[in-house]
Amino acid sequence: MTRSQMYVYAFGGPKAEGSAKMKSLLGGKGANLAEMTNIGVPVPAGFTISTEVCRHFTENHQNYPVGLEKLVTDNIHRVEHIMERKFAADKGVPLLFSCRSGAPISMPGMMDTVLDLGLNDKNVLSYAEATGDPTFAWDCYRRLVQMYSNVVLGLEHGLLEHDLTEYKALVGKKLDVEMNAEDWQAVVERFRTTLQTHLGHFIPQDPHEQLWGAIRAVFLSWNNTRARTYRRLHDIPDNLGTAVNVQAMVFGNMSDNSATGVAFSRNPATGEREVYGEFLIHAQGEDIVAGIRTPSPVNEISRSGDNKEPSLEKTMPGLYQEFKTVINRLEVHYHDVQDVEFTIEEGKLWMLQTRSGKRSGRAAIEIALDMLKEGLIDEKTALLRVDPRDHINEMLHPRIDPTADRSHSLVRGLAASPGSAVGQIVFDADTAEARAKKGDKVLLVRHETSAEDIHGMAAAVGILTATGGLTSHAAVVARSMGKPCVSGVSEIHFSKDKKSIHIGETVLAENDWVTIDGATGQVFAGKLPLVKADIGGRFAEFMAMADKYRRLGVRANADTPADARRAVELGAQGIGLCRTEHMFFETEERLTAMRAGIFAVSDVEQNAAFERLLPIQQQDFEEILEAMDGLPVTIRLLDPPLHEFIPSKANELASFAAALGIPLDRVNHRIEELHESNPMLGHRGCRLGITHPNLYGMQVRAIVRAAIARKRAGGNPIPEIMIPLVAHLGELHFLRLRSEAIIKEELEAAGLDFHIHIGTMIEIPRAALVADRIATDAEFFSFGTNDLTQMTFGISRDDTAHFLPQYMEMGVLTHDPFETIDINGVGQLMQMATEKGRATRPGMSVGICGEQGGEPKSVAFCHKIGLTYVSCSPFRVPNARLAAAQAAITQD
Ligand code: ADP
Ligand code: MG
Ligand code: MG
Repeated sequence: MTRSQMYVYAFGGPKAEGSAKMKSLLGGKGANLAEMTNIGVPVPAGFTISTEVCRHFTENHQNYPVGLEKLVTDNIHRVEHIMERKFAADKGVPLLFSCRSGAPISMPGMMDTVLDLGLNDKNVLSYAEATGDPTFAWDCYRRLVQMYSNVVLGLEHGLLEHDLTEYKALVGKKLDVEMNAEDWQAVVERFRTTLQTHLGHFIPQDPHEQLWGAIRAVFLSWNNTRARTYRRLHDIPDNLGTAVNVQAMVFGNMSDNSATGVAFSRNPATGEREVYGEFLIHAQGEDIVAGIRTPSPVNEISRSGDNKEPSLEKTMPGLYQEFKTVINRLEVHYHDVQDVEFTIEEGKLWMLQTRSGKRSGRAAIEIALDMLKEGLIDEKTALLRVDPRDHINEMLHPRIDPTADRSHSLVRGLAASPGSAVGQIVFDADTAEARAKKGDKVLLVRHETSAEDIHGMAAAVGILTATGGLTSHAAVVARSMGKPCVSGVSEIHFSKDKKSIHIGETVLAENDWVTIDGATGQVFAGKLPLVKADIGGRFAEFMAMADKYRRLGVRANADTPADARRAVELGAQGIGLCRTEHMFFETEERLTAMRAGIFAVSDVEQNAAFERLLPIQQQDFEEILEAMDGLPVTIRLLDPPLHEFIPSKANELASFAAALGIPLDRVNHRIEELHESNPMLGHRGCRLGITHPNLYGMQVRAIVRAAIARKRAGGNPIPEIMIPLVAHLGELHFLRLRSEAIIKEELEAAGLDFHIHIGTMIEIPRAALVADRIATDAEFFSFGTNDLTQMTFGISRDDTAHFLPQYMEMGVLTHDPFETIDINGVGQLMQMATEKGRATRPGMSVGICGEQGGEPKSVAFCHKIGLTYVSCSPFRVPNARLAAAQAAITQD
């Protein structure tokens, strides 16, 4: 094969040169057009210019490789031969082309397509005559002018649409189908004037020039802003390039016996095994998506709400059957749900695109399990068919009752964070917080959100914004909070006084009820019924299958018995991080005792204060150990600096001093003592434990006593003691000896003998570097990747809001390292520490307890470096279970 033969691949007709396996070269669309050709599905003939050409074009100042022109010309002749029409003909029915983008990884709607290429002022007349349908000919021509102006000539969007609307108003017509040849011709004249005014020229009249213009525009669209952003969000490399598919046009707008439609081989919302789709009689492809007319359902099952239009099954029964056979055949051939585009031209069915269909979380699980049962796929494939983040998140959130009528959606924005929410709208964060405190369900509506809105976002049941994409502040924060969010609803307009908004004709004032669906981006006025997440049934069946394949353990970060129970319900195999600090804040009594300890002047006084906390802590631990009976519970000794326990506002200090029964100036003096320039790098974690022996001593004693109590009650407690913020072996060694002595003392007093593991967090880079030494005293490691990331990057996590979002927006960083493990940096430390630790202590348990532990890419990395388990917040446990199974399936 010569090099130039790699540039263009024919499809349609008897046989294609490509196949479904060639997605990286032909793009998804092109590869599947070739595949459909080869299995005998009717596809209009055409050819694919490969992604190789796109790369060449991008790297060589937008020049094409030598020989491309001839290959294109040859292929045009091939299509002319198959379709029995001539491109650029002046007589008869000319061959028209579409020029369609198609990347190796689907990027729906991100790049451009131009239809009806090849018409001009002259042949539109012969076309009208030859088809005997001037309305059709002129309709095609005005479409070409519209699309070409926007996509190729870069005319400002809306100008031609405006011409069209104005004309329709003038002649009193509403729908495209009401327009006749004279109308379309007049519209083209208006277009011509607008183009002349704004660009100084009309669209090129030479069909070849049109075609090459469109090819160039599609290649250029690979690098438009939209496409770049999409790639960044979905981890698609920038160097893949797009292919260009040049394809003979078929016409759904030719007559009333013509139509165009889109369909799924199964219901993408519920997974039901039935063709699901819509179509439009007398229309061309893009009309369906453009929402110009309300489409009709292909069958009764696809009928939504009050749509009264007759179905395809009714109007063209023969064609419907033929279509059903084809789509089912495609599903069997591809072993997956297919999302197809089809066009019927004068009673003949043509398939224009097939790809695996995007589906809801629920549908993904239903379909995976159904196809497994049908023998279409195996278990591993079934597990890979469900997205461990979006699909699983959707399952864990409340959602709109599937039987509710969703046909009256106000508008659709970006599906920024899944789950549904019903709330009364408020327009600022303070109101949101105040109202939520009173128990109201509020939905925060903002132009966009910023760091100042966090408290309002936390208080709201959901978030709705007018601007901002999927990486906007609102979207990112909502996802991390697990809150439903719809962003980028440009149709939202705020009133001058900012007390109401309008979306189209609908005006919404503060307190009005609104429902949002963060999985689809839909917004509804009023309250739609929600149903709770259902984690039993097929979800449980699917998750059990995932557990069979994963090797990584999954634990939860849980600080309370309620969280622990929730975690077990969601499949956690223990607690990887039980923080103890909140236990000191829970009641006035606890906080007072803690403060008394901090302000004690003598060791005796301090000991007495902490002693008061001992039975309370013991009770906390007993409850958690009971909720996690038989499963390991890693308890981290106190981590934050002491000043976090002292009021920060000056006006609260007097009553604070009074409550403690000490003079105000002593309080002030102690506060001065505790002051640190950089508390995150200051006196906290094990440093505190070493200098305040009574504190850690009390905690260790509470843990042992809780375990003893549980044993006596017939339970099987497995507590593990975790020392935070160790940098040096000396620190751990010292604290281990001290803790062991206490454990021994308590066990002897109880007449019991069992072992409690003592380990450490690895969260300071130095600890990772000397992990082999630290492992001499640590029985287990747990990566605290929040601090480890913070200290490796030298970025204070609490201060990222000022620059990290911009970093992401500008592409300086592709991922937030606090969300996804920074594999090259932090990951390297983790891998090294794991290896070093296990060199000293073979087979030692190594886990991760940072936020990243529930994020699929990070989970995959943890699997790769052989961690024992990941630990994450309870509601992310299922994400981690599936991600771990997928990692085992794809990596091993
Ligand atoms: P997108 O990737 O945005 O869906 P497509 O390249 O699939 O863009 O084309 C947009 C619309 O035009 C689709 O509805 C498609 O079916 C229709 N279309 C594309 N090529 C042809 C063609 N050769 N004949 C008829 N309709 C076409
Ligand atoms: Mg398409
Ligand atoms: Mg930490």
